[in-house]
Amino acid sequence: MAMPRAFAEAQRLLRLDKSRLDDFVEALKKVADVYGPVRKGVQHSFQLLEDKRPELDYHTTILPPKKLLHEPFEKLFSFEEDRVEVVQSVPKRPQVLLGIHPCDVHAIEILDQVYGGEYEDPYYQKRREQTVIIALNCTTVHDNCFCSSLGTGPELKSGYDLLMTDLGDQFLVEVGTPRGAELVAEAGLEPAPRVTLVDKERRLSEARNRLRKRLLTQDLDQLLKDNFRHPVWEELRHECLACGSCTMVCPTCFCYNTVDVLNLDLKSGWRERVWDSCLLLDYAQVAQGMNFRKDRDARIKHRVYHKLVYYEPQFGTLGCVGCGRCIDTCIKGIDITEIIRELRGE
Ligand code: SF4
Ligand code: SF4
Repeated sequence: MAMPRAFAEAQRLLRLDKSRLDDFVEALKKVADVYGPVRKGVQHSFQLLEDKRPELDYHTTILPPKKLLHEPFEKLFSFEEDRVEVVQSVPKRPQVLLGIHPCDVHAIEILDQVYGGEYEDPYYQKRREQTVIIALNCTTVHDNCFCSSLGTGPELKSGYDLLMTDLGDQFLVEVGTPRGAELVAEAGLEPAPRVTLVDKERRLSEARNRLRKRLLTQDLDQLLKDNFRHPVWEELRHECLACGSCTMVCPTCFCYNTVDVLNLDLKSGWRERVWDSCLLLDYAQVAQGMNFRKDRDARIKHRVYHKLVYYEPQFGTLGCVGCGRCIDTCIKGIDITEIIRELRGE
């Protein structure tokens, strides 16, 4: 994709009639692989839009778009006797992530820090450089969303190449970067009058008011530090199944394990990394079978503390973006917001 081209203020606000969404997606496909939310059973999933239509009125997706930047299984290198070949499954074309909600964009910004910090991850970085974000503000909200408590939604202020807002029969499209400007030039979108910003603000304010779930962040760090031995953790020891689902669906969880796979010739094979979960029993197992988080309460407590205490000094932000996926997915109904409410004595 050609980069970059200056874009004027007047070109930052554009409109896309919903009747022209397919044309827009087709224009994107000419220059990139386009991923968007599509129906999967009763849920939605981010998938390559080959012959599928995106359903932009979705609540959330099963897995976050993280899976397209940090794949669940990723081959790192292959080997044959003493020959090693680095394998990087970098997309051949740019990839457009269409319709990402604000919480998921915030989560990608956190992953950018994790994988772009002192120990830069070339696998993530290559894919990230090839990625264009077309975000979608949330004008509808879901029972388990609590993004407004964390300042990660329902509206997005930065981190996008293009930002869409559903205004009924059309989308307002705001340009965030020269790369986004290139894309809208390809698609031939029309300018939108500034008054559409008023409609946008009204819809987002209504969405914010519809959010019912909250996570009060005031003095959260101290609250958790003071309640390391609270009875809620003992209750969770019996409740939590340690299935790891909450970590698999979390857009900010980044742990992985590396595995060497040997072919039957015992001379060749490959190393891959796979998503891992701190909720699983063997996650904290070290040499000689020692496990420093062998009890389930220790593992779920670690997850909550990692999200709400340990992230901030490291990355300057909490590690939860309030997407609600862990609540949606937990078959025991364990809810991080309820844990905090219980610690607060509410
Ligand atoms: S909190 Fe729920 S989803 Fe997470 S490991 Fe425990 S039972 Fe599984
Ligand atoms: S902890 Fe739960 S609500 Fe928070 S970002 Fe992860 S999946 Fe979403």
